Amino acid sequence: MATVIDGKAVAQTIRSEIADEVRLLSQKYGKVPGLAVVIVGNRKDSQSYVGMKRKACAELGIKSFDIDLPEQVSQAEVINQVHDLNANPDVHGILVQLPLPKHINEEKVLTEISIEKDVDGFHPLNIGKLAMKGRDPLFLPCTPKACIELLQRSGVSIKGKKAVVVGRSNIVGLPASLLLLKADATVTIVHSHTSQPESIIREADIVIAAAGQPMMIKGNWIKPGAAVIDVGTNAVDDPTKKSGYRLVGDVDFQEASKVAGWITPVPGGVGPMTVTMLLKNTLDGAKRDIEQNN
Ligand code: NDP
Repeated sequence: MATVIDGKAVAQTIRSEIADEVRLLSQKYGKVPGLAVVIVGNRKDSQSYVGMKRKACAELGIKSFDIDLPEQVSQAEVINQVHDLNANPDVHGILVQLPLPKHINEEKVLTEISIEKDVDGFHPLNIGKLAMKGRDPLFLPCTPKACIELLQRSGVSIKGKKAVVVGRSNIVGLPASLLLLKADATVTIVHSHTSQPESIIREADIVIAAAGQPMMIKGNWIKPGAAVIDVGTNAVDDPTKKSGYRLVGDVDFQEASKVAGWITPVPGGVGPMTVTMLLKNTLDGAKRDIEQNN
């Protein structure tokens, strides 16, 4: 049976490490990390993610700056707000909650975030540096960083291993594959046009699944002993639940946990780690700022 990687427990450990560092910064320099979260409109899921992020900041002593804009706000106004936050010395991280309403061009807004404050790690310059040998981005995207942190803290070695990433989105699959490559894995990316994904996945010592396809990866697709990180978070109907649904990953956990060496559950695996990595990025941004200005 696989070792189940407890993302909640790992996240809790990292959060207390962050809280300790925040306290030290405050005592030594009289400064605390600041995270600005910009949200446009009233989407329930976005409101709930943003609420989680703000609550987590409060718990760790990180100051949060709340920019709540109405659905009809113009793109120019969103960009103005980003510029103000870029100029605010108390803000070390800026996060624009996605998706934005259709009349606003996400790429244009995200590109305006100063790369020194790009705690989501989505700025093309940060992604570009992630892709280049010998360059280091200022921030790593949170979910892929969470996957690597879970592997490392579970004692899974990456160097020289065969890794397969399922999915190639800008926010998860692609940066996850670049991070694995930087950690010296041999990386293959599986996407929706890949034929016979099972034969490719079966070769992998490490699998990162981020396709958004409920339980697509079966137990017999997994190499015995492999480390399986399941990013997928899919709601499937479940009449036995009060809500009428439950969350499942991209991996068939019941089957795969009998074969894998390590596996993350859904929920309780990558999810709790993602917000934690955002807080870590904000702390790192503040430390870099203090180093440069003291
Ligand atoms: P996207 O929909 O943006 O990307 C999905 C990717 O998976 C695409 O590259 C797509 O390929 C590929 N794909 C889709 N179907 C298949 C298939 N049958 N076989 C192989 N590849 C396939 O999703 P995201 O990257 O944003 O998210 C992926 C999953 O991770 C979702 O379930 C999401 O909810 C979850 N998630 C979880 C987070 C967490 O913190 N736990 C954070 C972010 C996301 P193609 O490019 O060819 O279309």
